[in-house]
Amino acid sequence: MGSARGWQFFMHPGPTNIPHRVLQAMQRPAVDFTGPQFVALRDRSLERLKGVLKTRQGFVIAYAASGHGAWDASIANLFSPGDKVLVCQAGYFSENWAATARQYGLQVEVVAAQERRAIDPAAVGERLAADRAHAIKAVLLVHNETATGIRHPVAEVRAAMNRARHPALYLVDTISSLASYDFRMDEWGVDLAVGGSQKGLMLPPGFSFTAINARAWEAAQTARNPRRYWDWRTMVEGGRQLRFCGTAPIPYFYGLEASLDMLEEEGLENVFARHRRLAQATRACVRAWGKGAGPEIYPLDEEAASDSLTAVWTPQGHDADRVRTIAAERYGVALGRGLGALQGRVFRIGHMGDLNEPMLLGALGAIELALADAGMPHARGGIEAALDALRAPAAARIAAVAA
Ligand code: PLP
Repeated sequence: MGSARGWQFFMHPGPTNIPHRVLQAMQRPAVDFTGPQFVALRDRSLERLKGVLKTRQGFVIAYAASGHGAWDASIANLFSPGDKVLVCQAGYFSENWAATARQYGLQVEVVAAQERRAIDPAAVGERLAADRAHAIKAVLLVHNETATGIRHPVAEVRAAMNRARHPALYLVDTISSLASYDFRMDEWGVDLAVGGSQKGLMLPPGFSFTAINARAWEAAQTARNPRRYWDWRTMVEGGRQLRFCGTAPIPYFYGLEASLDMLEEEGLENVFARHRRLAQATRACVRAWGKGAGPEIYPLDEEAASDSLTAVWTPQGHDADRVRTIAAERYGVALGRGLGALQGRVFRIGHMGDLNEPMLLGALGAIELALADAGMPHARGGIEAALDALRAPAAARIAAVAA
């Protein structure tokens, strides 16, 4: 067998499919990055990005760097060696953000989520309430943990911080939630949000940003961590990013403009609804497979299940990577691997970005074939379950149009 012909289905949880419109927008000759044409594009795009982040109070500082760069920027600019931060630890990405903090000489305290569950805001609140001296300078949370497919409760953690009357800054990584499901920087009291290009924004990897508010800007003025590439003070004037450390990543701005056009044309709320629909269909499919002592949805609470990807937990003794390999090599469907402790026990279906129902159904069908080929226990009927999940909201939409 083999799938040399036909579309290859890219179902990774990042990078995601890049629309032709974005690719074409990026294919332009270089321009002077200090000239009026680029400056206008840069200012316009950073301003429009605030709409996706739902912030009026904050502003965006972008970097020619992967998401790891924006993590570095968050730690380098806000803190001094020896400062203490509280990390909501819930998987590979929160652990790696914490590792960045340690590398800069910060003390990292951890409040850990229970296995396969979201962070408990009350546990964060308790830890802060016990910190009478206010030694904890910031709380760090990853909104959507891309390793586990669990969404963590951003607004509820902020409420717990407020109840504890703790002045810590609130830093949230939105890399795999932004432009896939709702994030509200101002309303949820987030002081710094980390974002990246290669997920819901449908751009190539290698471009990231932080959105910061006045509290974060103020903290950066007295922080003593060493910084050069990330130094906001050299990039920002009057609450606006005016320069990069080095040459500006021009093509990303052409791409970003196209991506923002697409998101606006569809409407952000419709983008979220599409992601919800595709996620529900994926979960219905995995639940159907699970009936034969087969794979399960990794998060145990439906409410905590991510709308941007589904982590599939394979039965003990059955290698998740074998399913991935078969799906890729026989059927041309690329899936994400299990990360860190979940390697071999999880494969991840990305359903974010430039994706629709037929693409998802095609991929799920191929995965069901791969489960059978891998000899992994599962019940058949995943696709029927996915179709049923898609039918219900579609029927409601058609009725609304007809009315
Ligand atoms: N944070 C989250 C939630 C992620 O999913 C990722 C990457 O997948 C990162 C941070 C790191 O981003 P990058 O790989 O672009 O450095």
